[in-house]
Amino acid sequence: MLLKLRVASETELCRKEVSVMTTDFTAVTDEAIQIRHYLHQHPEVSDQEVATSAYLRDRLRTLGYRIITPAKLKTGVVAELGHGHPVVALRSDIDALPIHEATGLAYASVNPGVMHACGHDFHMASLLGAAQALKDADFAGTIRLIFQPAEETHVGAQEVMESGGAEGIDAIIGFHNKPDLAAGEVGILEGGLMAAVDQFKVILHGKGTHAAKPELGRDPIVALTSLVNSLQTIVSRNVDPQAVVVLSVTHISGGNTWNVIPETASFEGTVRSFSTAGRKLAKQRFMEVVKAGAATFDVTPEIEWIKGPDVVNNDDQLTPLVAETTAKFARVVRPVPSTTGEDFAYFSQRIPSVFAFVGSHGTSDWHHPDLKLDDQALTTGIKFFYYNALNLLAKLR
Ligand SMILES: [Zn+2]
Ligand SMILES: [Zn+2]
Repeated sequence: MLLKLRVASETELCRKEVSVMTTDFTAVTDEAIQIRHYLHQHPEVSDQEVATSAYLRDRLRTLGYRIITPAKLKTGVVAELGHGHPVVALRSDIDALPIHEATGLAYASVNPGVMHACGHDFHMASLLGAAQALKDADFAGTIRLIFQPAEETHVGAQEVMESGGAEGIDAIIGFHNKPDLAAGEVGILEGGLMAAVDQFKVILHGKGTHAAKPELGRDPIVALTSLVNSLQTIVSRNVDPQAVVVLSVTHISGGNTWNVIPETASFEGTVRSFSTAGRKLAKQRFMEVVKAGAATFDVTPEIEWIKGPDVVNNDDQLTPLVAETTAKFARVVRPVPSTTGEDFAYFSQRIPSVFAFVGSHGTSDWHHPDLKLDDQALTTGIKFFYYNALNLLAKLR
């Protein structure tokens, strides 16, 4: 996608330097830490972020933002500051996970079985911190804040787009905290940063019988075990060794006792990929292997293929701009693309965008019940949104 870019004049650059000097990020960070602790304590799962949305709305109203959340969007908040084009959107996700927290933190979740174990509280606090700093900034154009629901279920970005919440945006940026990066580090990469996600579910229909009389049935268990092994050859034997594709079978089920061969057995799992060709090949071979394997064992496969988000693809023109700006307040590193997925991809497929990894110096990885993040890392998250918003508004004018 072609973007109209303009080189900032020296005067503008000078003004930005002044802005760098006068914005008190220590005070903003201190407040963002309190906000994160509150949000961490009150997590809500995907598409049920009612109290979280109310909290964000109140805070943004107090800061002087216009709340423009489309009526169709049940949870999440869209807000704006400024007028006219360009419109630069800043995105944070807001949902938590159905995980029982085991951090022992003073501000641990008070909602049993629900935890901000992916650090979306870190994203919200960063964006609210940036919102606070931006309300006093000097800029032309519009800053739109998108607090998106349901990232974990990969439907929230689509909900925002279908509701009209992403109309008229010239550029959008976002980030995910990265526990294995240090506080003050930001990972930025042109092109594919996070993988395309597909999900599969297969039920093998056979014929149940007495365990001692297998010749009278059609055993789905033997078929399933063979298929799970055969599917591993797609990545090892079919996919280009230079390409990255992952295929994992993560759940198998069949039978309920020792002396009965069941009627059915099932399995499910996921495919991750970074190219259209790799994604297409993996799906095609999956179908062939399952159908042929099932035929070999005389069982009938019922296959469900659920297409998830595409690759999170960083725009060629915007990414160097974001990297240059970010290098002024953080250590920019080149991250290894992640085989995890992100529904920010739905934005990045339609709108010029940059998605980054902001170091959060965590104690474990995403989705772990013991994940603790470094509060001091919030400063970098706040600055990432603040400086890149202002710089992109100046450049896209
Ligand atoms: Zn997650
Ligand atoms: Zn996440």
